[in-house]
Amino acid sequence: MSYTIAVLPGDGIGIEITAEAVKLLDYLQGRGLDIEMQQAPVGGAGYDAAGKPLPDETRVLVQAADAILLGAVGGPQYEDLPRDLRPERGLLGLRSELGLFANLRPAVLYPQLAAASSLKYDVVAGLDIMIVRELTGGIYFGEPRGIRDKASGEREGYNTLVYAESEIERIARVAFDIAMKRGKRLCSVDKANVLEVSELWREIVTKTGDDYPQVELSHMYVDNAAMQLVKWPKQFDVMVTKNMFGDILSDAAAMLTGSIGMLPSASLDQDSKGMYEPIHGSAPDIAGKGVANPLATILSVAMMLRYSLDQAALAEKIEQAVGRVLDRGLRTPDIMAEGCQQVGTLEMGEAVLAELSV
Ligand code: NAD
Repeated sequence: MSYTIAVLPGDGIGIEITAEAVKLLDYLQGRGLDIEMQQAPVGGAGYDAAGKPLPDETRVLVQAADAILLGAVGGPQYEDLPRDLRPERGLLGLRSELGLFANLRPAVLYPQLAAASSLKYDVVAGLDIMIVRELTGGIYFGEPRGIRDKASGEREGYNTLVYAESEIERIARVAFDIAMKRGKRLCSVDKANVLEVSELWREIVTKTGDDYPQVELSHMYVDNAAMQLVKWPKQFDVMVTKNMFGDILSDAAAMLTGSIGMLPSASLDQDSKGMYEPIHGSAPDIAGKGVANPLATILSVAMMLRYSLDQAALAEKIEQAVGRVLDRGLRTPDIMAEGCQQVGTLEMGEAVLAELSV
């Protein structure tokens, strides 16, 4: 099976880290993988090239591609642009246009990096959680929304939290399917004690669970989930939740691992076409210095192999290669620790490639 991959490096460190991931894909080409890669601008680079963050050429490419690898977008030089032309608009455009409704955010802590976490070693060493966040619905998209004048003369802001049964069921299925491939435990996070939307969410998730009798389903209120994530995160295997709760919980879970440069993510559509990107931004403070950690982007390639290209064995090979590089003590500055050897973006990428080829 041959696949087309759209590569969108974006801005800032996006360019440097994507280059390392592309080298890896180049290496895998012909070694179990048949791919064609095509590059296009997005974000600030899109604005520079074509006057908008999601140029038409990029739009056509991503529509036709089987998977998309994205670096990061944004930078101080674009901050004064009108809202519609800002780099982040390119990202939102990609997500909504491609119908990427399922956001997969793993929080994995390689035991070699446990000292980087702000939590105690025992609490986080070996942590491996998958948070499945609904990405195209809920309060971030619900209508009506706005700021209006009240009869009393003051203004009020309002948003609408709305989920249709079909939206809940499709994200629940993604989460159950992932749980089946992992520890077979799924925790659905809601606020069913207060919100009617959550009541329906709980009902539909439970009903969907009838099709997955091997998965142990539990429900948790979001306030308790936030507490439990910090108290004993290893109790979780897969978590599924709506857009806003997932936004917040996945960032909290990411920080348990202490290293923003290590965490990949995936956003999938109905047919497992996906966009894969590190969770961090374009890091203007270190862009162009050759010190950015490319591992989150390299691990995003592993997710792409697993979820869109049906190559779980190759994905595992990449993850193991990253583990061996960390075992050897190589560290970019963001994960540097005593007794380790500091390396730059390029050396880190090359080290993973070298481990992959042994
Ligand atoms: P950021 O994630 O870019 O950086 C936060 C901090 O983490 C910085 O100190 C940075 O140097 C460091 N960092 C991030 N990635 C790193 C890596 N791979 N290796 C080493 N260190 C790393 O967040 P920010 O500074 O708030 O945002 C910068 C720009 O990125 C803004 O324009 C923002 O809008 C944009 N942004 C884009 C995305 C995206 O493309 N998905 C996500 C978040 C922020």
